Amino acid sequence: MANLSTCEPIVVIHGGAWAIPDKLSSASVDGVCSAARAGYGVLKRGGTAVDAVEAAVLVMEDCPAFDAGTGSVLNTKGEVEMDSVIMDGRQLQCGSVACVQNIKNPVSLARAVMEKTDHTLLVGQGANEFAEEIGIHTVPTDSLVTEDAREEWRHFMKFKTTVNALFRNRAEETPVDSSVCDTIGHDTVGAVALDKFGNTAAATSTGGITAKRPGRVGDSPIVGSGAYADNDSGAVSTTGHGESITKVCLAREVTHRIEEGMSAQEASEAALQKMNRRVQGSGGVVAVSKGGDIGKHFTTERMAWAWIKAGKLHYGLNSGEDFVEDI
Ligand code: ASP
Repeated sequence: MANLSTCEPIVVIHGGAWAIPDKLSSASVDGVCSAARAGYGVLKRGGTAVDAVEAAVLVMEDCPAFDAGTGSVLNTKGEVEMDSVIMDGRQLQCGSVACVQNIKNPVSLARAVMEKTDHTLLVGQGANEFAEEIGIHTVPTDSLVTEDAREEWRHFMKFKTTVNALFRNRAEETPVDSSVCDTIGHDTVGAVALDKFGNTAAATSTGGITAKRPGRVGDSPIVGSGAYADNDSGAVSTTGHGESITKVCLAREVTHRIEEGMSAQEASEAALQKMNRRVQGSGGVVAVSKGGDIGKHFTTERMAWAWIKAGKLHYGLNSGEDFVEDI
């Protein structure tokens, strides 16, 4: 439950763990910084952590540089199927949608599942019917698909591989044409926040992975894998190889380690290390603990990230980077 003391509001954002091609790098960094500003603005105006993570993710769903909402990647049929989750750390309320089509902002639909239904996860047609029922109307598929997503899909279909191979460290995995690695953008988005009342929240949204099977659901909408928030520990959003993340329940793994006494940064690093050791998967994490310490770590080549605390915006893309600006 919320405590009455005033905490320093914090928002932490990721724009997906992957190589992030140079041509998308500045758009990705600008996108995570805009999202951080949007989320922080909500917190500064007295909004809740849930309001802040939704506002931040909305910005990135509407930015075509990211694999979420507009800009989502395509499945083998060339269709868009999106997954999203939101969680409120006050009472462990959560809502998710999976395999939804023609929805501009899946994170808002996930929030509606959390707030307006007795359920935690709606999928496919049922999720779309619920959207219609509450006045979230469908948009044409073409409005969600970018030329970059089509190009990436053509590449993957030609080389008959999936992005799976790119995220995993197994030597026996099918080799992938290196030009694919250099050009793909694979940018799931996520946000975590701590509001002034000490409440935590997390949200994640994605189009999944290119050339996935129709009907494939990754980690992102799975509570404890793609995100987790608990006022007793903190909030986490994850990105990376969905099947690996699901196997280790990555987000919950991070909050568990925070409960055991690790800082958010130590917990993020240890959880990703475990995922690598146990299932040879790579990815990234952003986290904030209930005490206000920040975690961000990735085991892929790049991850766009940004956070704001005490009026300072921090951001970066490559390992070791930490640019700082006053906001
Ligand atoms: N975790 C997402 C998925 O597997 C992809 C990503 O984070 O980039 O669907």
